[in-house]
Amino acid sequence: MTILAIDLGTTNSACAIWRDGDAIYIPNKLGDLLTPSVVGIDARGEVLVGRAAKERLITNPADTVAVFKRLMGTSHKVVIANRTFNAVELSSLVIKSLKEDAEAFLGCPVEQAVISVPAYFNDNQRFATKKAGELAGLRVDRLINEPTAAAMAYGLHEKKEGVFVVVDLGGGTLDVTVLEFFEGVMQVHASAGDNFLGGEDFVDAMVDAALKLAGCDRSGLSPTELHQLHIKMETAKRRISGAAQEITFTGAGQSHSISVDSDWFVRVVTPLLVRLQRPIGNALRDAGISPSEIDEVVLVGGATKMAAVRSAVAKLFRRLPACTIDPDFAVVKGGAVQAGLATKDAALEDLVLTDVCPFTLGINSLDGDKGEYLEVFSPIIERNATVPVSRVKRFYTVADNQTEIKISVYQGEHRQPSKNVFLGSMDIAVPNNRAMEESVDVRFSYDMNGILDVDVTVVSSGRKYNKVIKNSPASLSEEEFKKSLARLQKLKFHPRESEKNRALLARGERLYEMSLGENRERIGQIISGFEAVLNRQNEVDIAKAQKEFEQRLEEYDLEEWL
Ligand code: ADP
Ligand code: MG
Repeated sequence: MTILAIDLGTTNSACAIWRDGDAIYIPNKLGDLLTPSVVGIDARGEVLVGRAAKERLITNPADTVAVFKRLMGTSHKVVIANRTFNAVELSSLVIKSLKEDAEAFLGCPVEQAVISVPAYFNDNQRFATKKAGELAGLRVDRLINEPTAAAMAYGLHEKKEGVFVVVDLGGGTLDVTVLEFFEGVMQVHASAGDNFLGGEDFVDAMVDAALKLAGCDRSGLSPTELHQLHIKMETAKRRISGAAQEITFTGAGQSHSISVDSDWFVRVVTPLLVRLQRPIGNALRDAGISPSEIDEVVLVGGATKMAAVRSAVAKLFRRLPACTIDPDFAVVKGGAVQAGLATKDAALEDLVLTDVCPFTLGINSLDGDKGEYLEVFSPIIERNATVPVSRVKRFYTVADNQTEIKISVYQGEHRQPSKNVFLGSMDIAVPNNRAMEESVDVRFSYDMNGILDVDVTVVSSGRKYNKVIKNSPASLSEEEFKKSLARLQKLKFHPRESEKNRALLARGERLYEMSLGENRERIGQIISGFEAVLNRQNEVDIAKAQKEFEQRLEEYDLEEWL
């Protein structure tokens, strides 16, 4: 029995198995160990997952979707290529693709998986993750917290006891987790983070700084020019060193050149490095520990490969973090360790923090003025508040003669209420009056058992309303599950062998869009040439053409660089 360990990331996903005392990372059909968590549908209505889809994010934005992990546990729907998907379905497509890669690599069917989730994921999000695995045809007996997995990858669970801090900086999120291992149980003591800080922000900062130096702004560049600059900065970010890299780009009808070295980089990203401080401080404070009490600091996530990030973290903890395991694979490796233990019935217990509320609770409210209002999420109890907790906030009527205030309760971190988890609603009658003259006090009390008590008091009349919300997962019903399954089964998947060709064609199309003049024409020609060979359907010819096509694209990508 093989249990597949899956790291289902916001930006990238990976899978691995445990064999002969070690984790084996599984390459995807393109030979990469990381699969971008991107899903697309091509012109033929066939599903693309991973690099081929990622290449199309700019060229075919309406047919491609990324960062849907943020939507897990919500009922938010995404439309791509005129088809509707929820986050569970999109995630299941990524998992299905990983499962197939594993089956091709191992040469046998894979039926079971351990999937990692952020420590702060709530019941709904955990449930959604399990369902995504099941939709992909896997039995998911266990989820594992990402920081716990990272700690296990370092073998920290083999020590007798200890306090560990995991700093995970991914593509778009920072998660800081304080873990304690004691008597065979890994417990999450505190988790803090920044939902909008990750490796992508470093690239954005570089792009903005370059534009500023060149005296233009984003609006002065075409989408293609901007994308091109973005790719160059992404590559430069991975190569930052004392030696300068010359980056050229076009914008506002002119060609610009800037020199990028580590001094420039640190100056540009310092505001982002500063933002590491608060979540780290909060996590330590919530857990009630000082840096000297920590046994090990572990770095996880692709963005911690940046030397500037490592040294910022080292300074904050006043010690060198552990980074001997490639931060891209720490989570999936730990998942494989857990899978290995599970086959021996010795799986580690992994407990989520119990004394903090891991998500934000609030209501919908209207933001704006002069009759133009936008519905926004208004937090009442913020993520990571120590429970039990009780907080109150006042809300006012927005219209003259308004006689009712509808209060909808949500859980989540998104500014748009609809992207959060809906928990329930109440209709509150208020006396007829002018706008802003009537108000209600909304009190949320949240306890250890996940019960949210909502008390609403109409300020002018003193009238009280109450509703108790049990935080049980608004579970996907069996019927909904079957519907999803039926829908996904109707999707077309192209044969594995052609995946590489799809990725190459998508790359060619991106290059075509990026370049101009003669280059563009030539790229167009080699794309057509390659397509013609594909149409002939002769395996030997295709293999040869594929190699040549890739080489040519390589040259053009390089040329774009210089
Ligand atoms: P997630 O957990 O969100 O799926 P990852 O851990 O895969 O994300 O991290 C992705 C981020 O890591 C991206 O922003 C990427 O640019 C960054 N990254 C990956 N490798 C490097 C590197 N060598 N140097 C700097 N940043 C990197
Ligand atoms: Mg990750």
